[in-house]
Amino acid sequence: MGIRVRYAPSPTGLQHIGGIRTALFNYFFARSRNGEFILRIEDTDRERYSENALNDLHNTLKWLGIEVDEGPEKGGEYGPYVQSERTELYREHARRLVESGHAYYCYCSQERLEDLREKQKKDKQDFGYDRKCRDLTESEIEEYKRDGVKPVIRLKIPLEGETVFSDYLIGEIKKKNIDISPDPVLLKSDGYPTYHLANVIDDHFMNITHILRAQEWLPSCPLHVVLYDALGWKPPQYCHLPMVMGSNGQKLSKRHGATAVRDFIEKGYLSEAIINNVSLIGWAYDDSREFFTKEELEKLFTLDKLSKSPGVFDYKKLDWFNGHYIREKSNEELKELLIPYLIKYGFIEPEKLPDMASFLDEIVSLTRDRLKVLSDIKDFAWFFFKEIDTYLPDEIIPKKLNAAKTVEILEVIKKHLPDMFAKNEDKVEELLKTLAENLGVKLGDFIMPLRVAATGSNVSPPIIGSLKLLGIEKTTARIERVINILKDEVGNNE
Ligand code: GLU
Ligand code: ZN
Repeated sequence: MGIRVRYAPSPTGLQHIGGIRTALFNYFFARSRNGEFILRIEDTDRERYSENALNDLHNTLKWLGIEVDEGPEKGGEYGPYVQSERTELYREHARRLVESGHAYYCYCSQERLEDLREKQKKDKQDFGYDRKCRDLTESEIEEYKRDGVKPVIRLKIPLEGETVFSDYLIGEIKKKNIDISPDPVLLKSDGYPTYHLANVIDDHFMNITHILRAQEWLPSCPLHVVLYDALGWKPPQYCHLPMVMGSNGQKLSKRHGATAVRDFIEKGYLSEAIINNVSLIGWAYDDSREFFTKEELEKLFTLDKLSKSPGVFDYKKLDWFNGHYIREKSNEELKELLIPYLIKYGFIEPEKLPDMASFLDEIVSLTRDRLKVLSDIKDFAWFFFKEIDTYLPDEIIPKKLNAAKTVEILEVIKKHLPDMFAKNEDKVEELLKTLAENLGVKLGDFIMPLRVAATGSNVSPPIIGSLKLLGIEKTTARIERVINILKDEVGNNE
């Protein structure tokens, strides 16, 4: 049998960087070994279940271009792939474990367990459940039954010996059984399995060969191994992935910035950039190569290139990758990617799109080199669509000049606008240089007031191209407006 791996998220929250790293590594591993990639929904925690999280999961996988070989939508011969549809299987095995003496019914009330926890807290202890029901007598059990108490089923962790298993990255792991959480619940009183039971049963029946998952699950591993033993099964090969850190060496969290994939999508990160950046968290092909496409990773990914030490999710690097992948898009592709943003910001109306094609083409060529994320289009292109409400004299007047001189500059520019609009770009640059020299100001100081007048900001796409696209009428009107504002300024200072 070939490689079979799974991504097994619980739909309780939005997909985040750590989660998709797990998904991608499983996916790449499956593809590179001609294996199967399975999606399984671990939705047995009914209190934390969220429809929204489930939609987010499907959107995220689709956005990443991850194709599932078996899963809830795709189907497959080991289905169903949603745990809430497999509860009978879990119940049956929980009962089997009780019959074989590897598990037992526990009738302890919530209050009793709560008191136990309180007491342990007070005594600064934390051993967990006290195994009260492990050796109940027949008559005690009868009594609980008569009172209608609904039991849970707990796994009997052996009181002696040790549990040994191996992890691909970490090597052999040994744990004294007495140090394993005492008798974890397998089946809750509502008949739903816990994560431990469902996870083990499904990995077995779905013929999973390798478990690649977050390091956070390592502490549960010994008890899973005890469970496999009790069921008479062999666990898959474990491979717990390196931790995901922020650049300060702390576990990646919201304190570092966005972690939900949805937020990255909204800001305008491309899936190519996210995939490239995320695949370098705890994995490297060699010490020099940085660029990887999804298709390349589907061939190149191997477990032996995983790092033993934690990996870092580097936000700056992501921006850099994103710029790179934006620059790789054709104008046409980039336009399609930008249109939803232009609509969202209220710059264009979807119905008017057909008439705007060439105008949008121009905007894309003008801005493409400046975009780090797609949403940057807002700052770089808004002045093409909206009127500029406010001008701050401080921004218009170059540092070493005053309002009167700035008016002079703008008057000169205004006079030469027809000339500028008739010339092609490099000729316009020459003209501006000459005009600046004539006035005795630096080219930068000469252009700044023009840039702010026309675009509303001192950072803009290339100015000459922007003016041409804006058109002579609008440019003239904006320059005139600024001249008037500055004249008032001169008046006030007299
Ligand atoms: N449902 C678990 C999660 O949400 C799966 C852990 C595992 O891969 O075993 O991460
Ligand atoms: Zn009990």
